[in-house]
Amino acid sequence: MKAICVRQTGGPEVLVLEEIPDPVPGEGQVVVRIRAAGVNPVDVYIRSAAQGRNPSLPYVPGMDGAGTIEAVGPGVAGFSAGDRVYVGGPLPGLLNGTYSERALCTTAHVHPLPGHLTFSQGAAVNVAYATAYRAIVDRAGARPGETMLVHGGGGGVGIASVQIARAMGITVLATAGTERGRALVVEQGAHRVFDHHSPDYLAAISAATSGRGVDVIIEMLANVNLDKDLSLLARAGRVVVVGNRGRVEIDARQAMGRDAAILGMTLMNATPDDRLRIHAALDAGLANGTLRPVVGREFPLAEAAAAHDAVMEAGAHGKIVLIT
Ligand code: NAP
Repeated sequence: MKAICVRQTGGPEVLVLEEIPDPVPGEGQVVVRIRAAGVNPVDVYIRSAAQGRNPSLPYVPGMDGAGTIEAVGPGVAGFSAGDRVYVGGPLPGLLNGTYSERALCTTAHVHPLPGHLTFSQGAAVNVAYATAYRAIVDRAGARPGETMLVHGGGGGVGIASVQIARAMGITVLATAGTERGRALVVEQGAHRVFDHHSPDYLAAISAATSGRGVDVIIEMLANVNLDKDLSLLARAGRVVVVGNRGRVEIDARQAMGRDAAILGMTLMNATPDDRLRIHAALDAGLANGTLRPVVGREFPLAEAAAAHDAVMEAGAHGKIVLIT
């Protein structure tokens, strides 16, 4: 089968399309014929050995995908060949990511993909929606009636956060850096949208809460925004750091005076039980149409390098997906 292999870490050029052996399902495993693979910023960090990540080599990248079950190993219950599924990794083994025509999964990695969603939309679910859910529900403990700022609403995690929070009865403020991104976040459920490149947008957000501040901030770029976030919080407000690309200096007094909390969050820390619970919630939302993954751009699998460049560019408007 065709798969993108990384044999050395480095720039996008290390993503090379190769022929590798087809996987064979063992006990409790299924093989999914991947039709679309989601591209996440973390795929770029791993590929380039950034942020202290040094992957074992060679490997096939990709934690998100969707397709149909092609083969079922012994002892698998609840899934059959032909079922439409979305895949949530990391998957077992090195030469086994979703940037590939086939992926070997345990049943814990596969979830039903409703018929009204495309494979590309399925490939946009796992990291973005599980991260958003874990940030909003598990870390922030956000409640209906609260006000949330999704700081960076137009990307994968941002749109998922907007949809989840809106469905929970939260008042959703969001930011995006482009006109197109701002239109998208409003379409996806944000009550108000702001431009995070505008010099006065923080004052505008504060004014939108009548000076009270927001209860929760889901932060996509903490190294740029964390200090400013603290001054936007209401009393007992919480910032969840989802994305961060460098160091930042903060005025801790801003947190002290508000009884505020800065909460770290990485999806990798979710336990198997956490993932069962998170995906049960996500699967309900996907089935009833509350959660509607947005695909911004599609690339052929062979153009994974261009997709990696694109995911790091400004102007996010949904997920970037590889078609396999
Ligand atoms: P993405 O689709 O590439 O989106 C990136 C987002 O960051 C866009 O909405 C972008 O907005 C926004 N952004 C850029 N500059 C900003 C600024 N100055 N202030 C606020 N937002 C800004 O990526 P993603 O998948 O949504 O991931 C978002 C971040 O979370 C990434 O850093 C990623 O590595 C991280 N992440 C962390 C976890 C975890 O477990 N902690 C999981 C998934 C992702 P514009 O393009 O409109 O400027």
